[in-house]
Amino acid sequence: MDCIFCKIVNKELPAKIVFEDDDLLAFYDLAPKAKIHILVIPKKHIDSVNDLSQSDSELIGRLFLKIKEIAQKLGVDQTGYRVITNTGPDSGQIVHHLHFHLVGGGKLGPIA
Ligand code: 5GP
Ligand code: ZN
Repeated sequence: MDCIFCKIVNKELPAKIVFEDDDLLAFYDLAPKAKIHILVIPKKHIDSVNDLSQSDSELIGRLFLKIKEIAQKLGVDQTGYRVITNTGPDSGQIVHHLHFHLVGGGKLGPIA
């Protein structure tokens, strides 16, 4: 499968990694849209939120707690940040490996 994020997981492509364990990876977005722009992903390939199943509950719960930890580590937990997951064509999803954008580090515009 030709998936950029799987290649990052497998270290076939470089990334500036902020966190890694057996199941999760967090790294800086290549084209940041905010002062802080991190992508948090499950290592396992899941196309999008549409493809989540009951058995992924714990994985996604842990992923969200990791987002919280990273926000604290980067010092945006009190100033505020946004977590975004694009799903499908109308959202503009480009990379079809489930990922959560953590953006912050300055005032963000309205979501829509
Ligand atoms: P999407 O629109 O799919 O929600 O967002 C995909 C994100 O992945 C974009 O913000 C884009 O800048 C980022 N991205 C695409 N290719 C790479 C890459 O090779 N490395 C990193 N670090 N980020 C990437
Ligand atoms: Zn993938």
